[in-house]
Amino acid sequence: MAAPASAPPAPATVALQNGTGGALDTLFGKDVFTRRVMRQRLPKEIYKSLLRTIDHGEPLDPTVADVVAATMKDWAIENGATHFTHWFQPLTGLTAEKHDSLASPDGAGGVVYYFSGADLVQGEPDASSFPSGGLRATFEARGYTAWDPTSPAFLMRDNGMVTLVIPTAFVSWTGEALDTKLPLLRSMEALSRHALRILRLFGTDAGVNHVATTVGPEQEYFLVDRELYFRRPDLVTCERTLFGARPPKGQQLEDHYFGSIPPRVLAFMGEVERELYRLGVPVKTRHNEVAPGQYEIAPLFETSHIASDHQMVLMEALKRVAPKHGLQALLHEKPFAGVNGSGKHNNWSMATDTGVNLLDPQDETHTNLQFLVFLLSVVRAVDLHADLLRASIAAAGNDHRLGANEAPPAIISIFLGEMLSDILAQVEAGLPKRTIKGGTLDLGARSLPQLPRHSGDRNRTSPFAFTGNKFEFRAVGSTASIAWPNTVLNTIVAESLDYVAGELEKAAGAKAAPEKVAQAAIGLVRKLIHEHKRIIFDGDNYSPEWHAEAKQRGLPILQDSVEAFPVLNAKKTADLFKKYGVLNKAEVDSRYHIAVEKWVKQLSIEADTMGVMARTLILPAALEHQRRTAGAVAAAREAGVEDQRGKADLKALVELIGEFREATDALEAEAAVHHDDPMAHAKHIKAKVRPAMAEVRRLGDLLQLDVAADLWPMPVYRELLFLK
Ligand code: ADP
Ligand code: MG
Repeated sequence: MAAPASAPPAPATVALQNGTGGALDTLFGKDVFTRRVMRQRLPKEIYKSLLRTIDHGEPLDPTVADVVAATMKDWAIENGATHFTHWFQPLTGLTAEKHDSLASPDGAGGVVYYFSGADLVQGEPDASSFPSGGLRATFEARGYTAWDPTSPAFLMRDNGMVTLVIPTAFVSWTGEALDTKLPLLRSMEALSRHALRILRLFGTDAGVNHVATTVGPEQEYFLVDRELYFRRPDLVTCERTLFGARPPKGQQLEDHYFGSIPPRVLAFMGEVERELYRLGVPVKTRHNEVAPGQYEIAPLFETSHIASDHQMVLMEALKRVAPKHGLQALLHEKPFAGVNGSGKHNNWSMATDTGVNLLDPQDETHTNLQFLVFLLSVVRAVDLHADLLRASIAAAGNDHRLGANEAPPAIISIFLGEMLSDILAQVEAGLPKRTIKGGTLDLGARSLPQLPRHSGDRNRTSPFAFTGNKFEFRAVGSTASIAWPNTVLNTIVAESLDYVAGELEKAAGAKAAPEKVAQAAIGLVRKLIHEHKRIIFDGDNYSPEWHAEAKQRGLPILQDSVEAFPVLNAKKTADLFKKYGVLNKAEVDSRYHIAVEKWVKQLSIEADTMGVMARTLILPAALEHQRRTAGAVAAAREAGVEDQRGKADLKALVELIGEFREATDALEAEAAVHHDDPMAHAKHIKAKVRPAMAEVRRLGDLLQLDVAADLWPMPVYRELLFLK
């Protein structure tokens, strides 16, 4: 089998300040097989050898693996572990694990704890039931998990059970990536390779072995009372409400955002944070979000693949801990209509393994030019591949969010802020001459001004915003694994850095004097601004004028997943991934097929759930209400009064119920249509099923507003959204 990507980038640039005696510092990383633990426990030579594998991608010596495994096992057992699992991220977008006991019979009536290097390095779960998008026929169902030594092993604790968790990549027997992690590692490597070329040109590569991408994902989620949750088949099955009239109070008063956190919620957050701290996930921020019942948790940034592993752990922790507090965590992008949905702001940058953030406008003038080169490389990448970036976040849940007036639009553009945009405009026109915001610009022919480190302005409507020293890709969905969008982002930027390095080498020569490089770089930056400025937009991304303008600028407008998916299937996409060694053609195809199939399945489940709820919950309640209303009219008549108003209400109700029945019939008929080709099926769902669902919902919500509260068969928004 193929080994996982070689030479993964060096670990995080995160610097956690070690306070002393604080409640959290004794907890941090307690359940992680950290470098510190390894250094303490492993023989020196073994530790050094392992570090060469972790930091420089050198092949792992089998004898080293045996010693590491034995040490890891002892550490895990001392900490209460009974089982171990290879932990991986199949293309379901979730995580997978299969537990094996660390104990084996010793042949003398007892057990012995045993865990070999081979157990550590490779596993073979039955892969036949994971989606492979055609990569692996079932008869050759073999999939291997391969240890990722760059992501530390940890202990998972649940209900007193402790399991040693070993992060792995998941590959088919032919070496194709069956997971989300391997391509991410490959994309990071591609980016590193070309970023290094640029550093070399600028002479800023001293001591640098790698350039890693860094990510800090901010996670939004909802909390609902768990008892109420179980009374909503739609929440249980689809994680979103398929019915629900708008409550009199939603988020109009804007009184929830950053408001005080309800005690029950705070207790939950505290427990999640302590768990994550034990696992070495550097969670930092907690607050109420915009919608009632909506919250956010954000970690500090880490190297992308670690951040991605941690992000999966974080989502699981939210899910697992909530029930202990009588709560259910909803990670869906749009659990409730009429209030904001949830996203995952993917803060992204590039940093050297010596700790320099390449998107930070440093203090020295000459590095400003290098900064502009990296900045424009990203701008170019996003302009050339806006459609692919859009497709990387396409999913059923995100369709409800993107383009609605609360989340980034489906059109990808970049926000740079006034200060940077102004500098780019000046560079494009010639050399910067003006003084902006107090900073004096250097008129020297080779240099650019010192940029203020943080521009104050913010734009909450942009899908891809520069925020001082990083980009914030805000269009990622809240349920998404961040591995795939970051794989795409890294790959398109790698391509740009490759192009830029090539251009600079051409113009200045590979070993050019800094002066020549600077001259070439200014020229190139100017050209890149000119060619790619159409992707930059600092205005209001929600406004209809922007849609018209984006169209005029020729930016791709892919309104929903069905429009975006084909980009994954395009030749230019396959060529790009192949060129940078991230995915081969079969691997890209599989991702396309899985994405479309998942979308179709999710929508089909929603449509079926809706049909069942309409027929077995709402309709019986509405008919009961009709009977009651009719009874009231009859009772009035018995008393000799012809209740005209009651009769009119009854008539309207009977008609509404009739419409609701018809709409339900229509939905069920459309939902029953099947196409063998998933894309054809997806198009049918978009054209027919979704509008039918919208109509059932509209009528169902009207019924909710009519039917007596004691008859209504499920909790309403008012109850679900306002946690006390
Ligand atoms: P906000 O965007 O809400 O103002 P911050 O500026 O603190 O918040 O950053 C939000 C997230 O961005 C955090 O997870 C933070 O760690 C992350 N972040 C900061 N710098 C970088 C970086 N260089 N690369 C990736 N993520 C970063
Ligand atoms: Mg932010």
